[in-house]
Amino acid sequence: MPALCHLALQIVLINILLPIERKAVVARLVIKFGGTSVANVEKIRFAARHVKREFEAGHEICVIVSAMAGTTNQLIKWAKEAAPIHDAREYDAIVASGEQITAGLMAIILSDMGIKARSYSGWQVPIKTDEAHGAARIVDIDAKNLLETMANNMVCVITGFQGIAPSGRVATLGRGGSDTSAVAVAAAINADRCDIYTDVDGVYTSDPRIVPKARRLEKISFEEMLEMASLGAKVLQTRSVELAMAHKVRLAVRSTFDDPDAKQNDFANNDGKILGTLVCDEDEIVEKQIVSGVTMVKGEAKITLRGVKDHPGVAASVFGALADERIIVDMIVQNIADDGKTTDITFTVPDEEYERAIKALKAASDRFEYDAISGSKGSAKISVIGVGMRSHAGVASSMFKALADKGINIQLITTSEIKTSVLIDEEYGELAVRSLHSFYGLDKEEN
Ligand code: ASP
Ligand code: MG
Repeated sequence: MPALCHLALQIVLINILLPIERKAVVARLVIKFGGTSVANVEKIRFAARHVKREFEAGHEICVIVSAMAGTTNQLIKWAKEAAPIHDAREYDAIVASGEQITAGLMAIILSDMGIKARSYSGWQVPIKTDEAHGAARIVDIDAKNLLETMANNMVCVITGFQGIAPSGRVATLGRGGSDTSAVAVAAAINADRCDIYTDVDGVYTSDPRIVPKARRLEKISFEEMLEMASLGAKVLQTRSVELAMAHKVRLAVRSTFDDPDAKQNDFANNDGKILGTLVCDEDEIVEKQIVSGVTMVKGEAKITLRGVKDHPGVAASVFGALADERIIVDMIVQNIADDGKTTDITFTVPDEEYERAIKALKAASDRFEYDAISGSKGSAKISVIGVGMRSHAGVASSMFKALADKGINIQLITTSEIKTSVLIDEEYGELAVRSLHSFYGLDKEEN
């Protein structure tokens, strides 16, 4: 009881002593912090200053937090240690706890700064998901509680990565799922922007560890970001970008470690320079690049089936055999049957799936006829991405030329409206990415 009184007194004192100056409501924001931004109490205190700045600017705010860096890995380890094979619902009960800790800490710290705040677990919002424990999808968010709390001048602090399944049990959204929680909440409360604070200061034209001259993009379209995310730019969970595109949620990726107290105006500093990267609708991007990014995915294996008897249904049988084994196939190339009888089919799978894929195809050889099967591991997929490709001819040919000039052999090619990808020997991956990056004028200027 004395502890409770003490707490109550503290809350009263905070409210009397530190009235926060605040303008009328300007906009509604979701602010999400990743694991490295909330890795310990001190870092949470630092991150909270970004919330304070936005709150004082007059915004209504929902904060979404990840678990402290490393926590989720530790929790998963414990679950596996308890029993390698375990009930997915209990797995979720365990791994969802990391975010609860950070949500509570963030709410305490905000209150300590004089900003009224309360934490919400996914089920308290509620964030409703399907039953796919461990990889659940959000089906609905009832925003009523959040809107009421914000209307009462309070900040909502919500656990990322989780919700409640129809059975009433906690369900988690898959690794990196807090990004998706943030976007889903932003859509539900009709936020003006969803700010993803992380340990990098935005989305880059390429991986800066491979291309030292990679530049931060000020703006990128949802579609381009989706390609980048699925092609290995790990800034955002792919699902979160899909969701943002579907609901037209403007997403900003920016660094937590920027000075939280620096004056800024709607995601730009005082000189109007954008902080971080804005992921937005194509229409919002005035100067469209032909190519906005170059990505690489290593560890691709290619498999070729030669002399496949060509008749309706063979492709369905071949890829059906792989799908039955839940092997994800990426690039697919099928030749036309020159003699009208047989054809060659080549496709890629992740290196780790190579042996399993070969086995599955051999086991299914009664479902389709072929002469030979061959393949190898150790290829890399290099892609150039840009919405400008829709209206500019010759991007693919210039890409092939640039690679040829470096003596790099192309094994496979696939294209989409805004992307051209080639498969090459992994050994030349870095060289290819750097060459294409310069070739398309993406290198940052020396200063
Ligand atoms: N904590 C979860 C993870 O590490 C979710 C997230 O941080 O987005 O995957
Ligand atoms: Mg993340």
